[in-house]
Amino acid sequence: MSADGKKLSTRLVHAARSADAFDGAVNPPIQRASTLLTDDIDKLYSGTKSLYGRMGLKSHQVLSDAMSELEGASYTQLASCGLNACALALAAAVEAGDHLIASDSVYGPTRRFCERRLKAMGVGASFFNARDLEQLKSLIRPNTKAIFLEGPGSLTFELHDVEPIVELARQENIFTIFDNTWSAGVFFKPLDWGLTASVQALTKYVIGHSDGFGGAVMTNDRTFERRLFETASDWGISMSPDDVYLAQRGLRSLELRIREQGQKGIDLAHWLEEHPAVETVHHPALASHPDHEIWTRYYSGASGLFGFTLKPTEKPALKRFFDSLELFGFGFSWGGFESLMIPCDPQLKRSESPEWKSRDRGALIRVSVGLESIDDLKADLRQAFDRMAS
Ligand SMILES: *Cc1c(COP(=O)(O)O)cnc(C)c1O
Repeated sequence: MSADGKKLSTRLVHAARSADAFDGAVNPPIQRASTLLTDDIDKLYSGTKSLYGRMGLKSHQVLSDAMSELEGASYTQLASCGLNACALALAAAVEAGDHLIASDSVYGPTRRFCERRLKAMGVGASFFNARDLEQLKSLIRPNTKAIFLEGPGSLTFELHDVEPIVELARQENIFTIFDNTWSAGVFFKPLDWGLTASVQALTKYVIGHSDGFGGAVMTNDRTFERRLFETASDWGISMSPDDVYLAQRGLRSLELRIREQGQKGIDLAHWLEEHPAVETVHHPALASHPDHEIWTRYYSGASGLFGFTLKPTEKPALKRFFDSLELFGFGFSWGGFESLMIPCDPQLKRSESPEWKSRDRGALIRVSVGLESIDDLKADLRQAFDRMAS
């Protein structure tokens, strides 16, 4: 609950609205403008109002306010997509000569941004096994300025015990950034636990319909706020008005969708755990998950994204499995209303987590559960597993 006592569902219905500014329209309409005129020439350079669309229009402001509300932040910086938001948060935290530490299971393109772009800008990056606090400690140097976490980790679903990491970072004056896309800010509030910034790909659950891009960085830290604002201004980072509209519309039903998809996900995860073709299910809400205890301490629920590892399977049988699926689409992204599935191994990059490198294990598969009937999804999986075994 927020300070004024209203529950999240209520706040998401009433956030991102400004009847005065939009002629009474319930939802802020799409607002497109590059040039914003002033009738007072003296205000062209000295007014307080933004006069250029790249800096954000009124509809950007109400979406920023709503994201701040969702994550308990005092400031939100919008970005063109989730990766843009991750890069912005990192670039705001470091400069040439600095060093950062990121989890081994961060989203692949975030890792690539550290390894390639930040390196070219003179920033060093180290990676640590998401479950190994001692390794994280050992990597801290005098010039370490940022720790980048993600929960659960992309593709492999490890969780961080955040409290000791925040404590450590505080002692060493290090910014902590958390990619919170999985919980969409509904089930986990990084800022409440003392992290410097929370990042979201709005592309996933907030927009929620697989038809737009957006990113956001939320913070309560005044120093970090200024750095975010300056970095975004210097790079010309902004979010398209059409995507702003989709994000604030998606926010209305966010809690309803993510709870429903999360419930179906847990149901499907339990079902998969019982299936003879499945070796392990990677879902933090399951008691069998190595970080289940962390999940119960930090999270109030689960979204609909999880993974599973098959028992070793010959390639043709695996192909039969995928070819037989009718309800699960094969495609990137997640958090939309429709179910998706991808084999993860071709994009799995791990330097600090040897368990994932074993050649003996079966395929790692990621599922994003949509809003279809859970009975239909199970029936689809059942027939595909049968075809795989035949
Ligand atoms: C998809 C994703 C992103 C990037 O979002 P885009 O909008 O596709 O750029 C960042 N972090 C995580 C965890 C993601 O899954």
